[in-house]
Amino acid sequence: MCIFCRIVKGEIPAEKVYEDDQILGFKDVNPVAPLHLLFIPKKHVVNVFDASEEPGLMESLFSAIRKYRDQEELEVEGVRVVTNAGESAGQSVFHFHVHVLSGRRLHWPPG
Ligand code: 5GP
Ligand code: ZN
Repeated sequence: MCIFCRIVKGEIPAEKVYEDDQILGFKDVNPVAPLHLLFIPKKHVVNVFDASEEPGLMESLFSAIRKYRDQEELEVEGVRVVTNAGESAGQSVFHFHVHVLSGRRLHWPPG
């Protein structure tokens, strides 16, 4: 079972910030910004393309991020929402996840 599936099951601890029946949001263990969260579907899908095949999943995921933003008023600072698909794009965990970054000036383009 993959590492994020184990987080969903509670076998590995994570600092959760959001949860509903489909989606889990938690702090990245190796943050690259003052706020660095990961939002994932509880169902194992590999990347954004597979996730897009699941009816309603992307809507639920982005709606979860919006609810978190509304609650924490993140728009004041600016937020980056990003996903890596494939090894050369930087994906290291092959369970779809969206990074939510905030709290510092973020450079563009990314490396
Ligand atoms: P990727 O490189 O696939 O886009 O992002 C994977 C992210 O998952 C990385 O930022 C990494 O720090 C994070 N990560 C890997 N293992 C764990 C873990 O066990 N717990 C948490 N909270 N984050 C993890
Ligand atoms: Zn998984």
